[in-house]
Amino acid sequence: MASDPEKVKILLVDDRPGNLIALEGVLERPDYELLMAGSGEDALKLCLNHEVAVILLDVAMPGLDGFQVASILKSRRRTRVTPIIFVTASVLHIEWIYEAYSVGGVDFLLKPFDPHAVKAKVAVFVEMFRQRKEIERQAAQIESGERARRALELRQMQLENERRYRNLAESIPELVWTAERVGELGYVNRRWHETTGLDGEQTLGRGWRAAVHPEDLARLDEAWERAAREEAGFVVELRLRGGDGTDRWHLCRGVPERDQAGVIAHWLGTFSDVDDQKRAQERARVAVRLRDEFLSVASHELRTPLTVLRIQLQAIEQICARPEVASAEPRLPRKTMIALRQCDRLGSLVERLLDVSRITTGRLRLQELETFDLVELAREMIEQLRDAAERAGCELRLHGDRAVIGTWDRPRLEQVIVNLLANALKYAPKSQIDLTVAEGGLGAVLTVEDRGIGIDSEQVGRIFERFARAVSERNYGGLGLGLYLVREIVEAHGGRVSAQSEAGAGSAFRVELPLVVPAELAPGPATGETPEPFQH
Ligand code: ADP
Repeated sequence: MASDPEKVKILLVDDRPGNLIALEGVLERPDYELLMAGSGEDALKLCLNHEVAVILLDVAMPGLDGFQVASILKSRRRTRVTPIIFVTASVLHIEWIYEAYSVGGVDFLLKPFDPHAVKAKVAVFVEMFRQRKEIERQAAQIESGERARRALELRQMQLENERRYRNLAESIPELVWTAERVGELGYVNRRWHETTGLDGEQTLGRGWRAAVHPEDLARLDEAWERAAREEAGFVVELRLRGGDGTDRWHLCRGVPERDQAGVIAHWLGTFSDVDDQKRAQERARVAVRLRDEFLSVASHELRTPLTVLRIQLQAIEQICARPEVASAEPRLPRKTMIALRQCDRLGSLVERLLDVSRITTGRLRLQELETFDLVELAREMIEQLRDAAERAGCELRLHGDRAVIGTWDRPRLEQVIVNLLANALKYAPKSQIDLTVAEGGLGAVLTVEDRGIGIDSEQVGRIFERFARAVSERNYGGLGLGLYLVREIVEAHGGRVSAQSEAGAGSAFRVELPLVVPAELAPGPATGETPEPFQH
């Protein structure tokens, strides 16, 4: 039976039914609900299910007596503060009650009891109970009021945030947009209207598409739809048509925003004007193309007079060898030799430029492949560079006690070794340089190690790029093409090249080559292009 919430529950505990009936008669009131228990055990059970305002507890009972029941009730959290009125006929009990329960919430009634005293004592505790309940009710009310106030504050904060974001969106130079669904804009900032000349009505929904260059729309749609499928952001370069009819390149970025369940609720994005950068890039591309064209033409044009110059110098060299000339002009042979050496240097620079321009118009292609010993080739190259090494104060050492035979483009590998050794002489003068050739890696491994200036760790990654240099122009001349060519040649053989270096700690270059060039890279039937003669 559901109890009346207005009624206050009072528990009467006595093993004698007569006593219970007598108490019931005294306490009967419309606002009291009297619960009755014939034993201590029953009383404890009832207290589990009912919140009682006060318990009238007989002390002398078989089974659990009143004191035992009281101590159990005081040990339970729910009934710790429930007031107990002990009912007893013994004055001894009363002294004991005072001793054991000096804390509040406990009283006693002496049997035979005075009905007025019973009523009055019970009424005091009931009143205290009601007051406690009222306080609890008010506290709960305050708490729920507090919750409502917090919710309101939260909402105000949200609105404030939205307002701030909007202000932010309005103040930044980018074009800002939001979309509830893919392809349908719900908000754009003022900058959008200023840039495109479209007003709100013309823009929202799918109207904004009118401002995107028709050729770029499909790309944008595709990127956005894919981003929605993959639940990711997207970036697309597109042209936006300005109010004045001119197109400018923009970078359109969009990111999905999720709700608390993690589902995409809407999209937030921007258009950033990248037109200036894009045009600068385009100009740079054109400039690079023009440079390459110029290099190609210039290096071709330079070859003929250089060849003539070389032949003339060789003729002079022969004349110088005549005794009468040598005695008449003793400084001439040396000067001629220097001129020839410079002519060779010029020749190899021109060859490099030619190679580079060949690569820019398609990959470097290998010419004739021959089978030879790479150790032997390394020895020849060291021999060829002996004078240069002497001038640089370097000792070139070859390590390679077993032949490493492979099938490669010989002149190209000569170029690789010479470029690596020439760099070592240039960047590690007056030191020992070790060239090692052995089998390993992809097939053959060739390393050049020096103890020179080394390369800054941040630069090592880019030294194989075209025109890349990691030293100042003032201290070391060069075009930044040597290692680029090394890489191109090695990769054309199906190999790879790497560098290990630290500033001040020397450098080590490692070339790995397969012993046989993979079929897809091997030179095919003649393409009509005449192989260029080679010179260092
Ligand atoms: P170049 O020597 O003409 O500048 P390279 O392509 O041969 O061009 O080399 C690119 C850059 O790598 C060089 O400018 C230099 O900074 C660095 N480099 C190459 N070899 C060495 C080396 N042995 N020691 C130190 N730095 C080197």
